[in-house]
Amino acid sequence: MFEVDKIRQDFPALSQKVYGKSLIYLDNAATTQKPQVVIDAVNEMNNGINGNIHRGIHYLSSLCTERYEAARETVQHFLHAAKKEEIVLTSGTTAAINLVAFSFGERYIQNGDEILISEAEHHSNIVPWQLLCKRKGAKIKVLPIYKDGGLAVKQLPQYLSPKTKLCCITQMSNVLGIVNPIKEIVSIAHTHQVPVLVDGAQGIVHQDIDVQDIDCDFYVFSGHKLYGPTGTGILYGKEKWLDAMPPYQGGGDMIASVSFEQTTYAELPLKFEAGTANYIGAHGLKTAIDYLNQLGLPAIQVYEQSLLNYALQQLLLIEGLQIYGTATPKSGLVSFNIKGLHPADTAMLLDKMGIAARSGHLCAQPLMQRFGIQSMLRLSFSFYNTKEEIDKAVTALVKARQMLIH
Ligand code: PMP
Repeated sequence: MFEVDKIRQDFPALSQKVYGKSLIYLDNAATTQKPQVVIDAVNEMNNGINGNIHRGIHYLSSLCTERYEAARETVQHFLHAAKKEEIVLTSGTTAAINLVAFSFGERYIQNGDEILISEAEHHSNIVPWQLLCKRKGAKIKVLPIYKDGGLAVKQLPQYLSPKTKLCCITQMSNVLGIVNPIKEIVSIAHTHQVPVLVDGAQGIVHQDIDVQDIDCDFYVFSGHKLYGPTGTGILYGKEKWLDAMPPYQGGGDMIASVSFEQTTYAELPLKFEAGTANYIGAHGLKTAIDYLNQLGLPAIQVYEQSLLNYALQQLLLIEGLQIYGTATPKSGLVSFNIKGLHPADTAMLLDKMGIAARSGHLCAQPLMQRFGIQSMLRLSFSFYNTKEEIDKAVTALVKARQMLIH
């Protein structure tokens, strides 16, 4: 039994009212609310357990360093990574992808090379590669999706050539909710000697991840979507790549020695962690992961899947509602349009009824173009949501439809 009522009490944000209505928070793919333990962990450090890490020998510096490195180890175990040196702490998914785009790009991408992405990527997994391609005279290739949102994995070998230097694919689309067969994609890419970066921003929230089993070369995610603090994130990279890649940013903490003539760099992973790290956030992220481990990822997955199935069933009863991304497996969220309604108007009406939903291009304009539309409405779920909340959202959508159409 998944005790959702009890779990909800761990999240103070969920008991607030907006416009005098009890909040129904269905924008979890954008960011999740934080459990009290995470809030307490961050507050405790801001309240006094604060000393800049790695360089100090005093009590507070040592304690903060210990906590920062403990966070790295927690993430290592969470991802089932082989070594803690393969875990780089960043400020988020976007920062992690930009790090790889710059650093891997510096070392490996040349004029005429190709980088393969998919049609269902978040802007964060498109634009850094475009910037790299501009710098280097390389080219982006795009693996298409089918009408039902499923990725054309069968066509993948045709998109890989000796010019392909990296394949960057989302594990789970933040628009369609479809979960890509990452392990299969990695295996195909590797037979063509192409390394793979997996954007796990959405994927990691809904399932257990084993980077060694997937065998991906890079895996990135954000702390704030995983019930942790904003401004935290992770780049996992196989040691052989991280070792070979040059530093991304220069500054304190990433050096071994500095003179005006020459600088040598710190060992992994500090080589990629220039400047004062977000050690308080890292401790918050560790606390969030400990919290999730306690709830149990398999139980979370089963419960969230039942919420999604229920939502799909109920939403389809609404006249004129079209869901984008009907392929399976699908997880955690549903995006749709209702004929005759602009998603921004609908989201605004839902908001006034206390329901937080997201509308717009969802940071995936090429995907909107693929479906020939400008925007969608998205409901995204967490293990703290309930079927009653989904019922209320569906009733609100019906009401919005009546108000806007009739
Ligand atoms: N990739 C995907 C699939 C996402 O859903 C998001 C966040 N919406 C990102 C990348 C970017 O994450 P962040 O803004 O936390 O860096």
